[in-house]
Amino acid sequence: MGSVEILTRRGDRISLSETALKSFAKQLRGTVLAQGDTRYDQARRVWNGMIDKRPALIARCRGTADVMASVDFAREHDLPLSIRAGGHNVSGSAIVEGGFVIDVSEMRSVHVMPGQRLARVESGARLGDLDHETAPFNLAAPVGVVSETGVAGLTLHGGAGWLMRKHGLSIDNLAAVEIVTADGRLLRATHDQHPDLFWALRGGGGNFGVVTAFEFHLHPVGPQVWMSVPIYPLERAGEIIAACRDYMAEAPEDLMVIGVFWDSPVPQYRGRPVVILLGCYTGPLDKAEEVLAPLRTIGQPLADQSGAMKWTEAQQFLDRDYPDGLFYYWKSIYLNRLDHEVIGILAQHTARRPSPESSIDVWFLGGTVTRVPVSDTAFAQRQPPYMIGIEANWRDPETSQANIAWARNVHRDLQQFSDGGSYLNFPGFVEDKEALLRGAYGPNLDRLEKVKATYDPDNLFPGLLSITARG
Ligand SMILES: Cc1cc2nc3c(=O)[nH]c(=O)nc-3n(C[C@H](O)[C@H](O)[C@H](O)COP(=O)(O)OP(=O)(O)OC[C@H]3O[C@@H](n4cnc5c(N)ncnc54)[C@H](O)[C@@H]3O)c2cc1C
Repeated sequence: MGSVEILTRRGDRISLSETALKSFAKQLRGTVLAQGDTRYDQARRVWNGMIDKRPALIARCRGTADVMASVDFAREHDLPLSIRAGGHNVSGSAIVEGGFVIDVSEMRSVHVMPGQRLARVESGARLGDLDHETAPFNLAAPVGVVSETGVAGLTLHGGAGWLMRKHGLSIDNLAAVEIVTADGRLLRATHDQHPDLFWALRGGGGNFGVVTAFEFHLHPVGPQVWMSVPIYPLERAGEIIAACRDYMAEAPEDLMVIGVFWDSPVPQYRGRPVVILLGCYTGPLDKAEEVLAPLRTIGQPLADQSGAMKWTEAQQFLDRDYPDGLFYYWKSIYLNRLDHEVIGILAQHTARRPSPESSIDVWFLGGTVTRVPVSDTAFAQRQPPYMIGIEANWRDPETSQANIAWARNVHRDLQQFSDGGSYLNFPGFVEDKEALLRGAYGPNLDRLEKVKATYDPDNLFPGLLSITARG
């Protein structure tokens, strides 16, 4: 590698000499990549094919010492940086154009302490790495529903999945977070150590440093769970979603359901828009059929693929629907109501999707998440009973504008039924920053800004959504 031209945070360009780069590379077990290196192109790519950014430098870290050296390097040269873990955030925030990427994606080890029901997870791990290590002990941490997703981004912005009604968000199950802060120190944040930082990390994203590891509380799950997969025609959406809504208001917290407005996954009805009551029941197996019956017998489904499976299979059930490199644009909005009018809007937009791969997902929330006081963690959207995920997924780059416009229109039409909150793990391209900040953090924003002033006063870490340091 020769010298490298790179942006600074002041906005000018500097040249990092070959000697400076060699001396930095020597401090790492991992590798430093720049344009022209054979692995550079693969390292700058993320899951979303819409993202095509060219950072000047990528530090592929192998451990905490590499991360500490990388943070020092970024600070000393005043470089704009981004942090990459699983690279799955739809906005592409893991990669900074023209700047410096601290990449932890090779740090994927997971250490389970079954007796203590704890797992220490390096920050580059995918959900599947974590599930793989906990499953032999019939234990699990509450994370998301697609196994390729990165643990780090998912957790730092909340973490919603099949166990959330029973055990809360991923952040609600954190025992500790290890993080390298702007001064290059490694801190361990827990309820007792740096409690203000621990509070902020539970929802505040990548604003406070580079997380090197998480420690999660684990819960007994499996080995078998039940998935509910009844598929109903879109024309019956009003009746189906209303029945599910009423049932979920009283249903056991062992059950989590996402109502998916999509195209039929069953070949026999290929091309037909449908509503799927996709659920996961992690309670006693002998109760499963009884608990799931109200979702599966709202009249006659077109098809029903429900059944028992291993917990790890349930966690991978949706994997094949989200291949790497397709084009994606996802937004979200929390709703307080899900009445006839709202369901009608969801059904109309489903029928008008420019791409059959796009979907609208209704997350039926409630349970443990809502019992954590809003002031206990930075994550503030705990009370709304419904979250709508709007997923534009398409293959033809010529149709990008139409697909993005579709998702934005769904979001626009739902705003009248919302207090304005949205989920930062589905943030579009983070266009409406101020609305996203207020909507995600609400009453917790002032405190977040104070914690930012303590740990990152010069805003070295911009996060997915930049929190301003205010003393
Ligand atoms: C197919 C798919 C399925 C999904 N399903 C779910 C789901 O079920 N539930 C759910 O809640 N979300 C879900 N998501 C959203 C997912 O949680 C977010 O995309 C999340 O940001 C991905 O994490 P990542 O580590 O891959 O992020 P990356 O893209 O690598 O990073 C995103 C941002 O997170 C921050 N960050 C990442 N690593 C670190 C670190 N080590 N230290 C500090 N900051 C860091 C940075 O600000 C970074 O810009 C899904 C996403 C996809 C693509």
